Amino acid sequence: MKNRPSERQVVGTVREVVVTEVADTARRRGVNGTSMSSTCSESFSRHLKLSALLAAIIVSCGSAVVRPAPRNVAPAPAASQTANPVPVPLVDLTVSEDPIADRWLVAYHFAHPVMGVSFERGHDNHLRSKSWAAVADCGKRAVSWRVVRGHEAVFASGQEPFQDLVLSFPTDASLGQSGYLLNASFSDGGRLFLTGDFAVTLLTCPHANSSVAVPCNPALVSSPSALSVSDMRWTFRTSKERHILVFESRAKGELVWTPTTGSPSQGTYAYFGDIEPRDTALGRTILDPGLPAWMLASVVTYVPRMLEWFAKDTGVLLSVKPLVFVTYDARGPGLSEQGSGLPGVVQLAVSGDGWAKNDDAARVAWLGFLGHELFHIWNSDMAGPGDPWLMEGSSDWFETRALLELGVIDRARWQREVIKASNACMMMLGRHALLGFPNGPEYPCGATLLAWADGIAQGHGKTVGSVLGAVFAQAQQRPDHRYGTKDFLDALAKVDPDPKRLEPFERVLRSGVTEHADELYQRELSRPDFAVTLGPVTDADVDHEKAYKQVGVELARCDCNHRINLWSRDTGTDFGDSPECSVLKNVRVVAVEGHPIPKDALAAYRAILERRADKPIALTLDGNKPLALTCRKDADMPPFQRLLR
Ligand SMILES: [Zn+2]
Repeated sequence: MKNRPSERQVVGTVREVVVTEVADTARRRGVNGTSMSSTCSESFSRHLKLSALLAAIIVSCGSAVVRPAPRNVAPAPAASQTANPVPVPLVDLTVSEDPIADRWLVAYHFAHPVMGVSFERGHDNHLRSKSWAAVADCGKRAVSWRVVRGHEAVFASGQEPFQDLVLSFPTDASLGQSGYLLNASFSDGGRLFLTGDFAVTLLTCPHANSSVAVPCNPALVSSPSALSVSDMRWTFRTSKERHILVFESRAKGELVWTPTTGSPSQGTYAYFGDIEPRDTALGRTILDPGLPAWMLASVVTYVPRMLEWFAKDTGVLLSVKPLVFVTYDARGPGLSEQGSGLPGVVQLAVSGDGWAKNDDAARVAWLGFLGHELFHIWNSDMAGPGDPWLMEGSSDWFETRALLELGVIDRARWQREVIKASNACMMMLGRHALLGFPNGPEYPCGATLLAWADGIAQGHGKTVGSVLGAVFAQAQQRPDHRYGTKDFLDALAKVDPDPKRLEPFERVLRSGVTEHADELYQRELSRPDFAVTLGPVTDADVDHEKAYKQVGVELARCDCNHRINLWSRDTGTDFGDSPECSVLKNVRVVAVEGHPIPKDALAAYRAILERRADKPIALTLDGNKPLALTCRKDADMPPFQRLLR
């Protein structure tokens, strides 16, 4: 991927891995690391299905369904002619949708034989090998799924290379580990298809040209330099009357696309279905016809206003006309949302019965979600990638600022949201430095640092939007469009050159705040028109669910050596069997210092914060068993006692 950790990958050393799971209506912006295991019978029936599929692919092999037609390719010149050779893509891909079976065939034709291909996205998580069938050269060459240099790969089983490969799989609208949906489903049967999941590295045998047969070991294969977008040509096919759309192009039955910019592993979403695109001066939308009417209306009203305001506040004008896809599924409880951004494309999926209500919670969640994802056009698309805290933090900051600016929330509510983010940041980060801390704090901590920076900028008649705008504009001049922490701090120093103003940023980002974090956060956030006080957790502006998760994290930080493996459930917090923990192994904690969780999570969290360092924590386990938890000597307890309100 173009490494846009916006919704996905976290860069840096893993100091602490937190696996949490809540029966929730929560946003799924992060990468969920759970993997499914299957029983023997499931895998046997899958095997039977795959066998049937392989047979079907082999039978249809050679037909127009599988092999790309040589469209748009001029005939090769005769051997005697010396005309310029016609460029033929290194990889010719044909994606065929079967809308009735809700399945896909992806056929690769390689200009030169390969021993295998490894997939650039998704690493070695076996998402493909679990349910995808693969056939090479119409079944004449046996291939199998392997892991090559940490990536899923299809590799020749024998010594012979192959030139055609067909993959077959059902529509999959679950969130993969690459953080993007392979497919998204519209309620009228329309589908999105992510091309980036099919970017491959070609694997060849180092001795392929030698006349001596040398065993070709997957571990020893060589891969030519990475493919560029112009090395690939895509042909999308579906039933005769169904539409296919890629960016501005739309056609019935078949569409050929040769990308000219971006990277193959980033790719884009192709849309298969008959929803008419809605065009405005600022962008194009394809909206699920099942969306509740108020959500449809609010997209039409607010998306142009948000885009306009983001451009105005950052001073960076839109260089692309974004294409926004929104899918909807009324099933499931609450308000669920998942979104991602690719160059020029924003993909939003919402599900749950809560959206139909059109109440305050649904409205703020929906418009905030739109604001967050649309701002990724600025911080990840026109400029980017940037450091995760800058990308997610600025999307979170502009999400709430847009809600205030467009009159969706009032100033008091906006201040509460800013304070909530600061509290969440303090809790999640603990004593750690933000740079390199994985899984989550980049959202609230990024928004918090930008709130501090906004205070500085406002003191000089500017906004933090203009500081970010300067960073984005500078990044756009660079070949790779990248920007980072130093660029931001340099831009802020131009607004206020006093080095004392930058010191707290350096501390949070690079060394970690080890004491009196509450006082630091209060001081940096307070402004004449923005009062912030400190108080006990139970009186602070804290999200109950976040505080509950944090109870488990604090217990693990007390007992476990850095690695944390826990699930925050409706019935208590479950700790897995981690060798890094001494007491919290295979147990369910249902109360802390007499406060039941999750019901009284705030009181439980307060008890942890305010306890004496030398006193064990009194826990109640499932079945009413008591447990006195003495913290490790080097346990990192929270560097604060109070929270903001
Ligand atoms: Zn994001």
